[in-house]
Amino acid sequence: MSPRLAAAVALACLGVGLVVAIAVTTPWRTLDPPPGGPAPVSVSRDFTPEQVHREQAFHRALRPASYASVAISLFVAVLLGLTPLGARLVGALARPLGGGWGWQLVLGSLALAVIGQLVTLPLSVYGESVLRRYGLSTQDWGGWTVDLLKGLALGAGITTVVLVAFLAVVRAAPRTWWAWTAVGSAVLVVALSFLYPVVVEPVFNKFTPLPAGELRTSLLQLARADHEPVRDVLVADASRRTTSLNAYVSGFGSTRRIVLYDTLVNGAPPAEVRLVVAHELGHAKRNDVLHGTLIGALGAAAACCLAYLLFSSPWLLRRAGVAQLGDGRSVALLLALVAIGGLLSMPLQTLVSRRIEARADVHSLDLTHDSPTFIESEKRLAVTNLSDLQPNPLVYGLFFTHPTSPQRIALARNWAKLHDR
Ligand SMILES: [Zn+2]
Repeated sequence: MSPRLAAAVALACLGVGLVVAIAVTTPWRTLDPPPGGPAPVSVSRDFTPEQVHREQAFHRALRPASYASVAISLFVAVLLGLTPLGARLVGALARPLGGGWGWQLVLGSLALAVIGQLVTLPLSVYGESVLRRYGLSTQDWGGWTVDLLKGLALGAGITTVVLVAFLAVVRAAPRTWWAWTAVGSAVLVVALSFLYPVVVEPVFNKFTPLPAGELRTSLLQLARADHEPVRDVLVADASRRTTSLNAYVSGFGSTRRIVLYDTLVNGAPPAEVRLVVAHELGHAKRNDVLHGTLIGALGAAAACCLAYLLFSSPWLLRRAGVAQLGDGRSVALLLALVAIGGLLSMPLQTLVSRRIEARADVHSLDLTHDSPTFIESEKRLAVTNLSDLQPNPLVYGLFFTHPTSPQRIALARNWAKLHDR
């Protein structure tokens, strides 16, 4: 069998596996239709015109900059990767150091990360200033810059290590690299997701156990009632950056944790914190992080096979002005393909995520039987976080990992109808 055919067969198998895994693990239907039909998704029933106006003004100020940032990032990645510009730049950077592929990769990925950050920097500064104008950010420019640099260093560091490993394999096994990198990238996705809570999250936040007291006792009771023992509930010091209320579950196995923002613990009534924790317990119980990680691993492996097929024709390499993929100057091309692939997969990722979030919402209602508090809590979260109550379909499809607040409130009303409340 030719290497090309083998990679194509592997890609087809992984593709089928991916489709089956997504179809099976995604809760396409979370709630039976209630008697008398579902509750309508309504903004005006639960939010005052002033609240809607404030949210809309906020998004009118913020959204154009966010769109422009995504568009500029993609444009620059494509400009550098799908024309010889990026290869020339990388070659020139590494020349004083002898021009070896290792230096080309290390300096190239660092330079491209810095360029990517610089071209969107004015928009990032503007976005942060909008967040402050609306009281959502509590950071000063010093803290903001430190976070930006930490993110840049972490992103560039991980990208460089991954690319060096990738090209080392490509150079060592020109005919079979698709198989080695497919396995390697799948393992890497699982390892990163497992290590994320203990390696990456502490770079940006401090975590402390929720102190002993009524709230902690009540939350651990809730977890016991759910037969989902949690070792600890952690509080993140998010208030030094933001006023947003949030909580999440990350990691799996021994690194799985439920994290509450300190803004939530200090700013919301205990009944609402319980509901948020019940939602996170829903994620824990269904192993949502683990399933997401395994689907990501399958996707990464499939992407490696697809990359092999793409690079078996010289078209892409010729566009990028490099003779072969093993050339360190191909780093700009690789990063452009990653950027395009990431954007193309967003609608599917957010669609699956929204279904999983809806299931966690149903879980929190099943566990607490408290739809009135659920609705109050959704309103508070939406108003405090200035959530977009009626996103346009493009924004919804690309960026909304959760249903909108009015959708979540309608879900709670449907749940209440089904349970005769
Ligand atoms: Zn969730």
